[in-house]
Amino acid sequence: KVSVFWHRRDLRLSDNAGLFKALKGSDPVQPLFIFDKTILEKLPKKDLRVQFIYDYVQKLKEEYNRLGVDLWVYFGNPEDVFREILLLEKVSTVYTNRDYEPSALERDKAIYELLKEQGVAFVGAKDHVIFEKDEVLKEDGLPYTVFTPYSRKWKSKLNTFYIKSYPVEKYLKNLNSGGEQTKIPGLSELGFEETPTVEFPANCVEDAILEKYHETRDIPSVKGTSRLSVHLRFGTISIRKLVAQAETINESFLNELIWRDFYQMILFHFPQTVSDAFKPQYDRIEWENDEKLFAAWCEGKTGYPLVDAGMRELNETGYMHNRVRMVTASFLTKHLLIDWRWGERYFAEKLLDFDLAANVGGWQWAASCGCDAAPYFRVFNPTLQLEKFDPDRIYVRKWVKEFGSQTYPKPIVEHKTARERAIERYKQALNG
Ligand code: FAD
Repeated sequence: KVSVFWHRRDLRLSDNAGLFKALKGSDPVQPLFIFDKTILEKLPKKDLRVQFIYDYVQKLKEEYNRLGVDLWVYFGNPEDVFREILLLEKVSTVYTNRDYEPSALERDKAIYELLKEQGVAFVGAKDHVIFEKDEVLKEDGLPYTVFTPYSRKWKSKLNTFYIKSYPVEKYLKNLNSGGEQTKIPGLSELGFEETPTVEFPANCVEDAILEKYHETRDIPSVKGTSRLSVHLRFGTISIRKLVAQAETINESFLNELIWRDFYQMILFHFPQTVSDAFKPQYDRIEWENDEKLFAAWCEGKTGYPLVDAGMRELNETGYMHNRVRMVTASFLTKHLLIDWRWGERYFAEKLLDFDLAANVGGWQWAASCGCDAAPYFRVFNPTLQLEKFDPDRIYVRKWVKEFGSQTYPKPIVEHKTARERAIERYKQALNG
């Protein structure tokens, strides 16, 4: 008999909570990764995220191989894969780390039922966040919907227990060693083309960057943030390790990691916010939804340099600086009066670090319809934002090559009128 450890958003061995739990169990542990057909089918054939996952699954497999262990890599629908595995092996338990997205919860429920029928236990662990689901609640037992009191409670609960690393290394002898080494399917077998070699950011951050984080985090032309979002997304870094580092170095950085937990918690308790405004009255907004203006925004041709630079950075690299994400999202929803869901979907397609909880949270925040969002009458002025955060136009010039020339587009909307129109439209929605 073996137990299976199923890697998902945790493409690493070290400090892996679920793997640790599995290794402490009584049966040898067989690691598994599934390229989920149902998810991959919906993606474009060239996708940086698939390339990222593919690279890290390969690394993970090599790491296991060095220990004399095979990582089983399957391509298919997870339910079918488990049916196949159960025919081949006697499995006692399947361990995994919990995922809080609505579709993942649904998938896991189906897997739980399938395994239960066969007498196999399905055991989850908390690995992706510091505090999950209802670990940080208000005094009345309800979830927080405002960040500041949530973060206060979060910090008051934090102690070394929650950030201490799981000593997986000590129990590696409990892996299922000696099996046959299987091959990993090629990217083309998964239906994808290789993307030109891209350099993904490193999965660690220097103390020196974090020490100055509070001063540099808003300046898109400098490397003032960690660039760890893709690693946090796919678990190629441990959140516990990072929180321990943040706690001793920079509180402002720690706060951002708490935002991450906050949005995961919100999505868990309010899964409807994937498509509905957190504050339902904002679903009454009459959007313009002009397709031509949307296309100009997507292409970075709005005539507002900071917006355009951000969209081009996104299109070219799959990344956009946080300050610029706020400005571009505000511009789309307020200046162009285009439904935040259009922007959310576009970011979801393009962002290497796309994370449903953070993306929906960020978009609803910018569109003023989320929990603890910017008030609707606060409309970012994209020109003032440019003056403040890219005064020398270093970031803009990097991404908008024709900036300052005749060929650079004229503004597609006028700031003052757009702002007044947005406030009016939001007011109408609020007044029913
Ligand atoms: P750092 O500033 O170094 O922060 C460290 C980590 O904290 C990040 O890697 C991230 O995991 C977390 N974090 C930071 N800010 C936030 C935040 N506001 N909400 C949640 N977590 C945060 N982040 C994503 O990871 N995926 C997304 O799909 C995403 N979509 C966004 C959409 C909009 C409209 C906005 C305004 C923000 C979005 N963010 C998203 C949050 C933020 O912009 C990115 O996490 C950040 O820019 C990533 O760069 P970094 O790793 O250098 O961040």
